[in-house]
Amino acid sequence: MTVSLPILTLVIPCYNEEEILTDTCSKLTSTLAALIQEQLISSSSTILFVDDGSKDDTWQLIKIEHLANRFVTGIKLAANAGHQRALLAGMLHAKDYSDCVITLDADLQDDISVIRTFVLRYLEGYEIVYGVRNDRTSDTGFKRNTAALFYRVMEMLGIRLISNHADYRLLNRRALTELSRYNESKLFLRGIIPQIGFRSDIVTYERKPRLAGETKYPLKKMLNFAFEGITSFSVAPIRLITVVGFVLFLISMLAAGYAAIQKVFGDPDAGWTSLIISIWLLGGLQLMAIGIIGEYIGTIFAEVKKRPLYTVDSILGQIQARDGTNF
Ligand code: UDP
Ligand code: MG
Repeated sequence: MTVSLPILTLVIPCYNEEEILTDTCSKLTSTLAALIQEQLISSSSTILFVDDGSKDDTWQLIKIEHLANRFVTGIKLAANAGHQRALLAGMLHAKDYSDCVITLDADLQDDISVIRTFVLRYLEGYEIVYGVRNDRTSDTGFKRNTAALFYRVMEMLGIRLISNHADYRLLNRRALTELSRYNESKLFLRGIIPQIGFRSDIVTYERKPRLAGETKYPLKKMLNFAFEGITSFSVAPIRLITVVGFVLFLISMLAAGYAAIQKVFGDPDAGWTSLIISIWLLGGLQLMAIGIIGEYIGTIFAEVKKRPLYTVDSILGQIQARDGTNF
């Protein structure tokens, strides 16, 4: 009796990764080959590189690897769409010919030896498997602290996240189909995927420092990502403004009452300091409030335009779908 083994696709977003692509490719090839040898996955499994509009030779290297290595396929996005959208592009492409996909970063900071565990969990019937870092020692103290703060804020806002899980995960085809229904322009995958709610499990691993090249997530991008994560999942910041505004209103009423009493008893304060402080305080709060509201309006603006999240420029590899047609 022949059992049909699952087709696995490894989805790797790449933005200016020429320094490490070849090395990454050979390590992933060995990983896939070992799993095929063990008869855990189908020999039609592939590695899908998503070139996210790189400015260096990343795409050239992907093409060279594709010619030399039967596992390697690639899609090239016409412009830099960002890590999250590049991941989505890869997953949605792979959905049509894979039983499950695993997403991971090109720098292989995430321990690839747990890919086998991911597959075992999938074979046990889990539909989503999250890779979770068991420690963050490879990060700078700053990144560790800001990440911890971020998870705490998200928890306080009631947003369900898997702590210390980045974008290293397995999704089966059913989960991918559900994911394809989320068309949010502010894409925050690690918030969306727990919402899908299918049977899931966690696999812990140790995260290593980047092998070569630099991080594509400098502080500015990281803050932006955290802010998008919050504003695309919660209106709590806007509600907070209302609460702060109301509290300030109450305080000013009390202060007005106090001033009136002082006036009646003929001993008014000179008042310059308190006046200046309240002007600056209120001015600052108002600007902040307008900023946060603006952020939501910006999100609405981006969503109503319904722009496509990415544009595919070219696709490498003729992949046979189950019904025999080529992609
Ligand atoms: N990446 C991408 N598009 C971008 C930025 C990053 O596809 O606009 C890819 C990058 O090539 C890498 C992954 O996303 O494979 C994660 O980036 P990086 O390792 O620089 O982030 P860090 O690990 O420092 O958070
Ligand atoms: Mg990295």
